[in-house]
Amino acid sequence: MNSPNLHASDWLALDRALGLKPDEVLTVLSRRELRSRGGAPGVVADRWRRCRASGHDYPVVVVSGVDGLEESAAGRWLLTHDPQSVVEGLLIGAYAVGARRCFLAVEDDCELDSVEGLLAGLEGGGGPVERLARAGVVLDLVVRRLPRSFILREPGALLAALEGRQALPDVRYCDPLVQGWEGRPTVLETVETLAAVAAVFWQEPGETAGWAGNGRSTSAPLESRLLTVVDEGRSSVVKSVAFGTSLAEAVRQTIGNTPHELGVKVMQLGGPCGPFLADQQFDIPLTSDLVERTAGVIGAASLRLFPGKVCGVQLAKDAMARLHAEACGKCAACYEGTRQLLAILSDLAEGTASADELELALVLCRHLQGAALCDLGRSAPVPLLSCRELFAEDFASHLEWGVCALEERA
Ligand code: SF4
Repeated sequence: MNSPNLHASDWLALDRALGLKPDEVLTVLSRRELRSRGGAPGVVADRWRRCRASGHDYPVVVVSGVDGLEESAAGRWLLTHDPQSVVEGLLIGAYAVGARRCFLAVEDDCELDSVEGLLAGLEGGGGPVERLARAGVVLDLVVRRLPRSFILREPGALLAALEGRQALPDVRYCDPLVQGWEGRPTVLETVETLAAVAAVFWQEPGETAGWAGNGRSTSAPLESRLLTVVDEGRSSVVKSVAFGTSLAEAVRQTIGNTPHELGVKVMQLGGPCGPFLADQQFDIPLTSDLVERTAGVIGAASLRLFPGKVCGVQLAKDAMARLHAEACGKCAACYEGTRQLLAILSDLAEGTASADELELALVLCRHLQGAALCDLGRSAPVPLLSCRELFAEDFASHLEWGVCALEERA
């Protein structure tokens, strides 16, 4: 990909932000009620205000373009389709919180020609770095390439990796706004959140513009999310989908067919730790609240499609196997809990589990939700619990008769 050929007016969002005081930048973001798109939940301006109020002379901004999952390609997509919005959002964030250092974390095989071209151009005469310096911000911007890993979606693991340590969750980072990178107050955002910050400033009220193909073109990024749809057997597809669109229509807009046309009766929303949904739920509208609630801190704005006949027990077992494989092993509650849950689900799939074992599985789920160190473990029971509710018939049939109710239901 060629480096972008930008001129001064292309930094419109940054110029508009620099024309305001940092507190006024936060007020603009508050007025637009901009919420996080992945990562830490909540209103962006509230978190940035807390960071600024720390009074620390060296706050840090970390921007994560790490997808870490087949279910999420949004980071890569944005870094190749609209890198300028990401970089502009990052610089606006640095200005608003008074950061001295920024990290852009990307996966090591991510195509970065456009981003590197932009960063190389930051230093030029009259460029953003000079404009930031005139506004009193001297910034050290570091691009850090990291291996693709699910656990890097966890804030503590990402901060540890950026400090050059093993990428493991750590209770020291339970509130990065207080204690983040090297003990400094740290704002940690996804590339999608930062691109939306830029959109707040370059999009006049009432204008629509977005990420439909070449960056700043059509649709409405402030009223939409980048959704990744994973169709079994095909690669992930990313599309900006407007809030209010039904999940079924979101799939059609993204990959060209509705779930019904594809023979899909089950989808998983929010990544590997998200709930399964049955076809009677496909009319649910996509909303910011739905995505953040189901994806949590570690999940993704994604829909994974499961075409054809699906056994709820097998689905829960496969999901648990995946989560156990991703568990880093730092805490026993998660590593042992997911291992035991997988063993029980395997017995159930084989038709050898007892009612007591199934009861134990529910106890293990509660223990995981309360005792796991990070969001991966805390949300690991979600796929199983949603399967048990959606496919109660399958669970009962496996338990009582040792066989699946799938054939009868099909
Ligand atoms: S909850 Fe799981 S992924 Fe998180 S620290 Fe514990 S073992 Fe690691």
